[in-house]
Amino acid sequence: MASSHLIPTYKRQPIAFARGEGVWLFDTDDNRYLDALSGIAVNALGHCHPALVAAITDQASRLLHTSNLYEIEVQTRLADLLCERAAMEAVFFGNSGSEANEAAIKLARLHGHARGSDCPRVVVMEHAFHGRTLAALAATGNVNAQRGFEPMPEGFIRVPYGDLAAIEALDDHRIAAVLVEPIQGEGGVRVPPASFLPDLRALCDRREWLLMIDEVQTGIGRTGHWFAHQAAGITPDVMCLAKGLGGGLPIGATVVAGRARELFGPGSHGSTFGGNPLACRAALAVLETIDDQGLLSHAQAMGESIRSQIEARVGELGCVVDIRGAGLMIGIELDSPCPELVDAAREHGVLLNVTAGSVIRLLPPLIIGPAEVERLVDTVCDLIETRAAATSTTQNTA
Ligand SMILES: *Cc1c(COP(=O)(O)O)cnc(C)c1O
Repeated sequence: MASSHLIPTYKRQPIAFARGEGVWLFDTDDNRYLDALSGIAVNALGHCHPALVAAITDQASRLLHTSNLYEIEVQTRLADLLCERAAMEAVFFGNSGSEANEAAIKLARLHGHARGSDCPRVVVMEHAFHGRTLAALAATGNVNAQRGFEPMPEGFIRVPYGDLAAIEALDDHRIAAVLVEPIQGEGGVRVPPASFLPDLRALCDRREWLLMIDEVQTGIGRTGHWFAHQAAGITPDVMCLAKGLGGGLPIGATVVAGRARELFGPGSHGSTFGGNPLACRAALAVLETIDDQGLLSHAQAMGESIRSQIEARVGELGCVVDIRGAGLMIGIELDSPCPELVDAAREHGVLLNVTAGSVIRLLPPLIIGPAEVERLVDTVCDLIETRAAATSTTQNTA
């Protein structure tokens, strides 16, 4: 299956899928897998949701692409819907999470220059993930991802995640913005203290910094809210979206409000494909379906069910350090690296992910139902119990 003409930037699993239906993926031999990863938080509506298929099919038969040199009606409508749901003011569309963050970083620089700083700084977090383009990579808190690509673009100051005092202590007039994930995804499904975002909002207001929230993974219903920061009762100045927004079509968005609203003007930023009719039509279908099917409260309920069932079954095991997350973004931290669980789960018909070495990450589609939750919980708990038993046997023999 390995292709010698692909640059091997990904260590791929030895499987390929031929079709999907709801939370299920079918491999080329028609074996069925429960998809508890959703293409890394992308397939919010699962696979081949009829509303999404119909919207894409209809749009493809009308118009795929024009250009941002012209008005794009579906793009305007999508911007309206996003702003309404976020209580924010305007949107720039790109094609990915990295691009959404690049736009945010550019906004921070404009904001800094407007305040008289020649070399504006953005405060970023340890363990953060913001993407692979150069500025997004520089903002990312992972030296392994950065290694070999130096020099990193400058202009970032890193602090521990969730530590307001560390940010408050920064005494640097060049700071223009703070870029933060409301829950860290790649970094290990890390949830900050409840007071972190509200206190950070207040701090950014006092210092006139932009509060820029990277909701690329957490947004679009993933945590049971439209956007995870809404659980903290705040509104950012800049919000970055991608992953779940297009339900599987590539689209990213940088949403702005308040003092970030007037920074970009004609000619200051752009994207050829950004917000093209097909991607926007798909995103509109995603947003409408989340409303029509009540998927925010559903994600909330299914997520609580998964977390509480896993807690009840394996929470007491010594190897389970923590079970955390919000909605259908769930992390189960074990006491040692567990990358082998990805293959083991797949062999039991479940697709999941392990991040930050020892955190099992579950990101099932928002449409997952109770019977599928049951199946997922059973498999995950079986794997953890098997691993715990094997570890204790090893220790006993040692
Ligand atoms: C995945 C991710 C990105 C990068 O998105 P791409 O579409 O891969 O560029 C950025 N930020 C967060 C929080 C992510 O999870």
